[in-house]
Amino acid sequence: SRYFTINGFPQGTPGRELFELHEAELPALAEGEVRIRNTWLSVDPYMRGRMSGVTTYIAPFTIGEPLEGAAVGEVIESRHARLAVGDKVRHMAGWRDIAQLPGEEVEPLPGIEVPEQAYLGVLGMPGMTAWTGLNRIAEMKDGDNVLVSGAAGAVGSLAVQLAKARGGTVVGIAGSAEKLEWLESHGIKAVSYRDRDAAQLTEALQGACPEGFDVYYENVGGTCLEAALNTLKVGARIAVCGMIARYNEESASAGPGNLAMILIRRARMQGFIIFDHWNDYPRFLEEVGPLVANGEIDYTETIEEGLEHTPDAFLSLFKGANTGKMLVRL
Ligand code: NDP
Repeated sequence: SRYFTINGFPQGTPGRELFELHEAELPALAEGEVRIRNTWLSVDPYMRGRMSGVTTYIAPFTIGEPLEGAAVGEVIESRHARLAVGDKVRHMAGWRDIAQLPGEEVEPLPGIEVPEQAYLGVLGMPGMTAWTGLNRIAEMKDGDNVLVSGAAGAVGSLAVQLAKARGGTVVGIAGSAEKLEWLESHGIKAVSYRDRDAAQLTEALQGACPEGFDVYYENVGGTCLEAALNTLKVGARIAVCGMIARYNEESASAGPGNLAMILIRRARMQGFIIFDHWNDYPRFLEEVGPLVANGEIDYTETIEEGLEHTPDAFLSLFKGANTGKMLVRL
């Protein structure tokens, strides 16, 4: 098996040299274990938090031990009653080509007719996060005007489409020309945050939706949050899903200077961690699965080829290189 480790807990933006590729012979399967040939690996922004050496809502990675992350693959050997050779499965032993783990930690892929890697993106954790943030946290209603930052990423690209299907004006904030184009091709008004300060971004958002927003789906933080706060309607709800602009910061920076807008607009702002909502996953699949299978939801992917490029795929999340879900194909 070949697998990646990290050799320290970096401050600031990590470099490629943080990651080391190792090779080790796997022991024979113990009773209850399975061996899996991974076919797709997920890299996700939350992994940066696990590289900081501190426990947040999840424990840090261990230096020198195989990194973890979502992966899909095929069972190639099994000593578990429920899992047979050839089964397609999902599990958390990613960042490696061959995984060996207890069958209890492995789940068969749900039976919806979609490509298997969709279970790492639009029908996996990021998709579930978009759906939960909009419906359960922001309590979106039909006709709401919705603003989404990080709008063309894995989470954002589903959030904007789910919001758009319910009728109001949907505005997406993103970085690159390619992303703005993708958003516009789906009827989403697209606004770039690049080269704009909070005042300029506020103005651009007001131009895109003069009425203001009922819901803000937050993936980024920083100037996006500050501008969004200026454009809330009375009674707006903010779902705080992520703040990726801060994940590589070396020290905590001050929050936006206009938090009083929460008071002025009688708004509610709520953070959430998707693991707390996982009981709802079957409900999400039931609702969104068919829309993905029949093409009503477009999911776009950015794919890196080969295990050795997993760190590059991960690091490029912080440069905005991905439109839709960032994946590694083995
Ligand atoms: P994305 O697919 O959106 O990838 C990250 C994107 O973030 C990049 O493509 C880039 O897009 C943008 N970005 C990166 N750095 C910056 C920056 N400094 N300023 C502004 N934008 C930046 O990732 P995901 O969809 O997987 O995750 C989106 C957010 O949701 C993250 O904040 C993540 O932590 C959070 N999340 C939270 C969960 C929860 O349980 N609460 C679960 C899953 C995700 P661009 O080109 O537009 O800059």
